Amino acid sequence: MSKIDKTDEEWRKELNPEQFRILREKGTERPFTGAYNDFKGEGVFVCAGCGEQLFDSTTKYNSRSGWPSFFQPLNQDAVAEHTDQSHGMARTEVTCAKCGGHLGHVFPDGPQPTGQRYCINSASLAFKDKAKKD
Ligand code: FE
Repeated sequence: MSKIDKTDEEWRKELNPEQFRILREKGTERPFTGAYNDFKGEGVFVCAGCGEQLFDSTTKYNSRSGWPSFFQPLNQDAVAEHTDQSHGMARTEVTCAKCGGHLGHVFPDGPQPTGQRYCINSASLAFKDKAKKD
């Protein structure tokens, strides 16, 4: 995978302010406010920063957390996981492996078969409908 390395100035031109705050500054959208929290389309969620395919809708489930939740990424190479000690918590941050954009966190309280909950900001995602070719 060829990685994307852009300056903040370049990202600011491509992303809206909310996307920039979350993807590039590791922000978090308010729960129950994101476009994909209560969204049931069939297709693939891609990175809002670089378009890399990240999560399939068949792995999305209702975690009642207020953020889109998935039990696994589309493939293990698409996302990267990092230890995050910020805000006085020990969590595992999830980023887009291609552009380094912050996506959210992964917690070990998800459903089977993985037991993982990828808790992802809607603002970090874009959606490609299965029925539409682009
Ligand atoms: Fe990306």
